[in-house]
Amino acid sequence: MGRGHYCGAQSIWVVGIDERGNLQKCWESVDKPANAFGTAHDWDPKDPFATASNLDNLTKYLNTAIPVPDDDCGECVWLPMCVGGCPNKRLFEGRHCVEFKDNPQDYVLALHARIGEKKEE
Ligand code: SF4
Repeated sequence: MGRGHYCGAQSIWVVGIDERGNLQKCWESVDKPANAFGTAHDWDPKDPFATASNLDNLTKYLNTAIPVPDDDCGECVWLPMCVGGCPNKRLFEGRHCVEFKDNPQDYVLALHARIGEKKEE
């Protein structure tokens, strides 16, 4: 099943707020004020771009949403499911591919083997 985006960080209206009122696009950044795109005091959701004090910290997450400007992702069979992976990791660590990226047959066989497995109670 395909999905439209990896997580809420790629939606403009999903916002994390730290204890000082800094606004973040990802919970991985709530302890990193330098990654904040604005403050709860100043940011106005009715005018989200003009009132962001660090617009790049907002738009760089939005820009990781598909279509991903990554040639490898554009040619990858997993793109409809993976959607380019975690945007926070992509921005700060580099692309994180699915573990079975280069071996889709093993993934399908493992998935097939699990069909009908009884859950332990
Ligand atoms: S597995 Fe890797 S190359 Fe493929 S869509 Fe995901 S991040 Fe992109």
